[in-house]
Amino acid sequence: MIIALCVTSTGLNMQAIKMRFIISLTLLWAVVCSALNSSEFRLPDNFKPISYRLDVTTHLDDKFVFEGVVDIKIICSQDTDTVVLHSSNLNINTKGVVVANNDGKIFPVSSIEFISKNELMFVKSSEKLKSGGEYVLTIPFTGNITDDLVGYYKSSYLDKDTNQTKWLAVTQFEPADARRAFPCFDEPAMKATFKIRLGHQKDLTSVSNMRLLKTTPMPSNPDYVLDEFEDSVPMSTYLVAYMVSDFAFVDSESQDDEVKFRILARKGAVDQTELAKLAGPLVLKYYEDYFDEKFPLTKQDMVAIPDFSAGAMENWGLVTYRETELLIDPTVATSANIHRVAEVIAHELAHQWFGNLVTMKWWTDLWLNEGFATYVAARGVDFLYPEWNSFQVETAQNFLQVLGLDSLKTSHPVSVPVGHPDEIAQIFDTISYTKGSFLLHMMNSFLGEETFKQGIRNYIDKHKFSNAEQDDLWSSLTDEAHRVGSLDKNTTVKEIMDTWTLQTGYPVLKVTRDYSSGMVTLSQERYLAIKPNVTDQKSCWMIPLTMTNSADVNFNNTKAEIFLDCKTNVTLSMSKDIGWIIFNMQMAGLFRVLYDSRNWMGIISTLNDPNGFEKIHTLNRVQLINDIFSFSKTGDVEYGIAFHMLKYLKHEKEYLPWMAALNGLEPINKLLKRTSNQGEVQNYMRRLLSPVYTNFRNMNEEVKGFEEIRFKNMIIAQACRNQMKDCIHQSLELFSNWMTAEDPDNNNLLPRELKSIIYCQAIKNGGVDEWDFLWERYQRSNIASEKAKLLSALGCSSETWLLNRYLNWTIGDNAVIRKQDAITVFYSVASSDIGFYVAKDFLYRKIADISQYFQPRGDRVGRYVSVIGSQMKTVEELDEIQTFIDKSPSYLKGADLTINQTIETIKINIEWTDKFYKQIITHML
Ligand SMILES: [Zn+2]
Repeated sequence: MIIALCVTSTGLNMQAIKMRFIISLTLLWAVVCSALNSSEFRLPDNFKPISYRLDVTTHLDDKFVFEGVVDIKIICSQDTDTVVLHSSNLNINTKGVVVANNDGKIFPVSSIEFISKNELMFVKSSEKLKSGGEYVLTIPFTGNITDDLVGYYKSSYLDKDTNQTKWLAVTQFEPADARRAFPCFDEPAMKATFKIRLGHQKDLTSVSNMRLLKTTPMPSNPDYVLDEFEDSVPMSTYLVAYMVSDFAFVDSESQDDEVKFRILARKGAVDQTELAKLAGPLVLKYYEDYFDEKFPLTKQDMVAIPDFSAGAMENWGLVTYRETELLIDPTVATSANIHRVAEVIAHELAHQWFGNLVTMKWWTDLWLNEGFATYVAARGVDFLYPEWNSFQVETAQNFLQVLGLDSLKTSHPVSVPVGHPDEIAQIFDTISYTKGSFLLHMMNSFLGEETFKQGIRNYIDKHKFSNAEQDDLWSSLTDEAHRVGSLDKNTTVKEIMDTWTLQTGYPVLKVTRDYSSGMVTLSQERYLAIKPNVTDQKSCWMIPLTMTNSADVNFNNTKAEIFLDCKTNVTLSMSKDIGWIIFNMQMAGLFRVLYDSRNWMGIISTLNDPNGFEKIHTLNRVQLINDIFSFSKTGDVEYGIAFHMLKYLKHEKEYLPWMAALNGLEPINKLLKRTSNQGEVQNYMRRLLSPVYTNFRNMNEEVKGFEEIRFKNMIIAQACRNQMKDCIHQSLELFSNWMTAEDPDNNNLLPRELKSIIYCQAIKNGGVDEWDFLWERYQRSNIASEKAKLLSALGCSSETWLLNRYLNWTIGDNAVIRKQDAITVFYSVASSDIGFYVAKDFLYRKIADISQYFQPRGDRVGRYVSVIGSQMKTVEELDEIQTFIDKSPSYLKGADLTINQTIETIKINIEWTDKFYKQIITHML
């Protein structure tokens, strides 16, 4: 699966908002784990499913229901009279439930019970079921096709030709919602084969994981047909998928004649599948080579769904996507849109091996799925677009993102015990995806590319069609590393990596130089955003050590020969005249480095040398900037030193260090936002941005190259946001020309890469005319990525009544915005200075409606609270939101843990303000 992104118009904010999104999910971790007893939700291990035969008939005409029968062949491993399996929100025809053995002997059912809070169903037989015996459990059921975006749900679109609403039904089962579509053993290790047959109206078609075998008339209903699909390979229930729709498809030119590749979408969007058509088969082939393992199915479909909760889902042979994550209209798509689609396709196809073929035993090791898919997707994109250099960009972005989030006390380990479905849903977060991915990158660096790849290949080969846990991965990698000698025989990958995956957080490598003796002492401690009163002595990591120094500069060696272990401090000897030493070459390790002041000043002096600063590798410049801001926040380094370092930016020409700098300033901007000193910050930002803005200022001038486009976008966004007159002026002029253009829908005059920024500025500085104009474009657009940009921009308004009306359109029975996008609108509104107050008021007043609208997903309500709460930083605000929470316990029931943790975030903000507000202002004047 991949998490949905919010599109925003402020360049940097996308990351920031995504972080906020996830912080709330992550923070509640510690509490959840201790609160729930996971064994209550797990199936006993006395039965294993071998195969399912699943018949489902879908009624999309008027009543939106499905009816089905499932026959599950199970094998008993322990005498018992009760079969326990999952079922949720289904109507089970209990009289029709049958238990039989292979010979057809029926074992009368004596009772059927449900524990709905645990989503379990108990079928009790009047006779003992014997260990070693094979039985068939038959269960007839019906259910509603809901609009919950989970289980078997409905989605719709407007057919522009007929002006009619068209309906489709599609599944989304990960992590634990197959049980909402049919009774099943809904745990990842309970793999079985699936024989699926789908009944539906004649004028629709159906697809599932496997190839269609045949279509026959349905005897019971002349308007319906029955599609029968091939038997599946053994797989987990969360990967089962089917869809009934009137979608069109295009065949893709396969790289392998044995795999038929198709892209499906609504008819009006099927011409936006060109990129997917091209990239899909290429990436699939790339992975076949990388994993040295053939794709095991005979077909691969990829479908764009108009209503979709996540970003995409890797169902085996039938990958589903949000439209924004699969469709590209080359006449309007931005470089970021193309990158995102390539990345998501590469991510989902990587799962076909890592996740589908080899699956984690339990959700505790979700990171094996998601971290790996994220990591190899970056390589897949690099393979598709080698000229982008996107791997380096992603390394830098991931580093900043993970180190930011994982600096909270309440973050969680990569590998984390989970039980209840709500807990499982919450670990689809930055830690599992991005930290997991970065740790694999780090491992690749210290083991070496070939060892890493062969270890992975051995692991896949050993566990294919089965399940594994992280120790299995460690052992395959250790064996290979020892075989080729890339790791000391006395060290295992497990010893190193357990310190990274089983512990929360990450270390600071402390480098202390004795300038009289030349000795360098290395030690470590955990990095926390707010320095604790007592240092955590227990946490310790095996840190891969690589270094260089000013006398012998070489940033190329990223393969660590030694590790800072957990037992001893390491001491090195070095000539005392050396200006600086820098650790962690090319940022290959996931840790910060804290130097002493003299070493920092040595580094800063090289950075401030226009002819010398590029001696320090780009990625290390990123780390230095990010580290110095992080150490200022903890008080380890004076803010003055951080601001001194930033002065070198006047000759910095590369995107990534600028990204790190603006990223480092982002929390400071947030801290000062809406305070009486916001003007001073904007002054400072304008001074900082001015030289680089001059290079990019002409909005109509197109720049080329993946990083250059991002660079320009980020600088323009920051310039407009910080009230640079030229930026706002150009935006408004371009927008007003477009407003008066003929046929503005097909004649968008704005520079394509800067559209989001210009939309936002026009809406912010404009009134109802601009708003209505853009809203009309939203309604008329047939391109999901354009709609997403427009939707975000509409939240930039400074008119409170427009913002209020806009928020009102997102919830309730008459909502005009898709449910999947409601949170995007709320984010967008809540992110602006004026919108923050409007969104807060909306949340306070409408909490009952919001809570009702997102049932059964209580965690969504928590996100609303966290977006608002994370921007609060005063004692008064804390009191205010606390009062609101105290008054509305019933609406916040499913989100109380998120809310507790949002409160903690506000407390952190207050403490930071108390300690550093004045100091920061002084440096910005
Ligand atoms: Zn995924």
